[in-house]
Amino acid sequence: MSPIELNKRQDTILQIVKENGPITGEQIAERLNLTRATLRPDLAILTMAGFLDARPRVGYFYSGKKTMTTVTESMMNLKVKDFQSLPVVVSENMTVYDAIVHMFLEDVGTLFVVDENTMLQGVLSRKDLLRTSIGSQDLNTIPVHIIMTRMPNIVYCKKTDSLIVAAKKLIERQVDSLPVVHETDKGLEIVGRLTKTNITKAFISLAETHDL
Ligand code: ADP
Repeated sequence: MSPIELNKRQDTILQIVKENGPITGEQIAERLNLTRATLRPDLAILTMAGFLDARPRVGYFYSGKKTMTTVTESMMNLKVKDFQSLPVVVSENMTVYDAIVHMFLEDVGTLFVVDENTMLQGVLSRKDLLRTSIGSQDLNTIPVHIIMTRMPNIVYCKKTDSLIVAAKKLIERQVDSLPVVHETDKGLEIVGRLTKTNITKAFISLAETHDL
């Protein structure tokens, strides 16, 4: 599908029809202080592109199709805070065995590791735990801080960040989730978790909002 860029006047016509339809070409022209003839090409484009329907003797009405500009705008406006999940955190000294149990119980794919001040120190993924499990060590004696990915190598986002920027970080760094953090004097306080599932949900909500 190729996006159709509407000009300012076509956008205005669309708005008028949306709010007042069915409305005749004559009435639209009156509202814009233009002649019906001047509007004819714009109305033809809007009708052909499927934004407006025209019925003889009734007038124009809005067909419900949204412009690509509107979809793009709402996409740019999506924020991390509107789609983030609750974070699941464990302490640095938790054993690998307990972390595995915790991951199953909490039904998440990533655990965030915090210090005694509850500040972000590390990330534990499923494969971090699996890798350790296939070694010969006793999982009950290894603390997670030995195997976790640690600061400052952690990619994170903030709740007011654009969802697109956060999604790019997930893809570029090839990770499944980002801690959503609040920066404090003591370090990074974890306020949420942004996963690929959250991005998929945002994608669906965008489609639903725009009747796609
Ligand atoms: P999995 O290993 O289960 O496929 P990920 O792709 O998320 O899950 O993790 C890959 C590696 O990246 C792991 O070693 C993990 O500790 C690390 N990791 C996961 N999330 C982040 C993050 N937000 N920032 C930095 N490293 C991360």
